[in-house]
Amino acid sequence: MVPSAGDTNRSVYSHVMKRTVYGPDHEAFRESVREFLSRSVAPRAEEFIENRLIDRDVWLEAGRQGFLGLEVPEEYGGSAAGDYRFNAVLGEELSGQSAALSSSFGIHYDVVAPYLVELTTEEQKKRWLPRFCSGEMITAIGMTEPSGGSDLAALRTTAVRDGSDWVVNGSKTFITNGYCADLVVVAARTSPEKRAKGITLFAVETGMEGFTRGRKLDKVGQPEADTAELFFENVRVPGENVIGEIDRGFIAMMERLPQERLGSAVANLAHAAAVLAETLVYVKERKAFGQPVGSFQHNKFVLADLVTKVEVSQAFLDQCIAAHTGRELSAVDAAKAKMWTSEVQNEVLDACVQLFGGYGYMKEYRVARAWMDARVTRIWAGSNEIMREIIGRDLGL
Ligand SMILES: Cc1cc2nc3c(=O)[nH]c(=O)nc-3n(C[C@H](O)[C@H](O)[C@H](O)COP(=O)(O)OP(=O)(O)OC[C@H]3O[C@@H](n4cnc5c(N)ncnc54)[C@H](O)[C@@H]3O)c2cc1C
Repeated sequence: MVPSAGDTNRSVYSHVMKRTVYGPDHEAFRESVREFLSRSVAPRAEEFIENRLIDRDVWLEAGRQGFLGLEVPEEYGGSAAGDYRFNAVLGEELSGQSAALSSSFGIHYDVVAPYLVELTTEEQKKRWLPRFCSGEMITAIGMTEPSGGSDLAALRTTAVRDGSDWVVNGSKTFITNGYCADLVVVAARTSPEKRAKGITLFAVETGMEGFTRGRKLDKVGQPEADTAELFFENVRVPGENVIGEIDRGFIAMMERLPQERLGSAVANLAHAAAVLAETLVYVKERKAFGQPVGSFQHNKFVLADLVTKVEVSQAFLDQCIAAHTGRELSAVDAAKAKMWTSEVQNEVLDACVQLFGGYGYMKEYRVARAWMDARVTRIWAGSNEIMREIIGRDLGL
């Protein structure tokens, strides 16, 4: 079992600022997640990397443990935690184990869940949510297209009304869980002339004629998280699969992106903290010139900086987690958290690779994989340039 942001950095270095955002219930929940990870995930980690897919069994086991339905009301099979801190604990632990696991599961329980819980009709909830919670139905969200992801309002996939159905044409790319998803929340243009105000969300399901997937994309990192292209050729989507209001999809996405960005930030920092903790153990053991490599002043200072950065970032992030729990997190603070933690994560992991020397470049070492896994976090969930745009706009610039 690898270290996690929850506690292990505390055992590796003694003076860590006490986090106050969580209470005993969250820590008990953390223990159950850790137990699940050590039993059902850690022993199979290599298998998932080799298959470039997380086995369905793991989804089902996570469902049985109640991890997938944290935001779902009890009558539809969820646990209705009503407290974002449980999502955050789950994200920290998943990410401490595997960045890819955190991405795949995170898209489902943290990103898609709010769409399926908050925007759906009673009939849709009954139809989808029990299988969502049990892990029998894996979900994805398709916003990005080959022509661009940053300018979401310019998306080109279309949905044209035909009787009570909609006919969807277009494609999406880089879709996490795209290869294995049973249901994809797809953003499509329903009013060509209205740009952001002409986008609607649809649930496209496996088996719908004309819905196909491309190959599993060959990524630099996170091989276990399947990522795919999706194609829609005259896919007939019944009116009962419209999610939310017609032409209000863009607003629905904007309202939910802060949670996606916060979830990314939680995963980014937990991942960095876990690998930093491992690196601290390594540099105390590994010797050069007869002394531990961590004891050279240069390395000591590098590590002092990194530990400080992680802890200071954690303090801001914990404030964001608390704010979101109270439904007060602003889009700007979510953008700051996402941007900053991904920069810190990449800086930490690059330094950790260096401190491991040649071993740091070997894929069999977790630090090398973690470094590759982390690169994407500055690109996705809204690239860091877009995050800076959001922050800059708030400055009146
Ligand atoms: C592994 C992976 C998984 C992903 N999972 C999903 C998913 O599940 N669902 C989904 O919908 N998408 C997903 N994405 C897509 C991701 O969100 C996009 O890649 C991202 O939003 C950037 O879009 P783009 O790749 O089209 O880059 P572009 O929009 O083409 O941007 C290219 C470059 O230009 C910069 N840029 C763009 N506009 C500006 C500007 N105004 N100012 C300054 N710079 C700018 C960008 O920051 C970037 O550096 C995933 C991507 C990856 C790599």
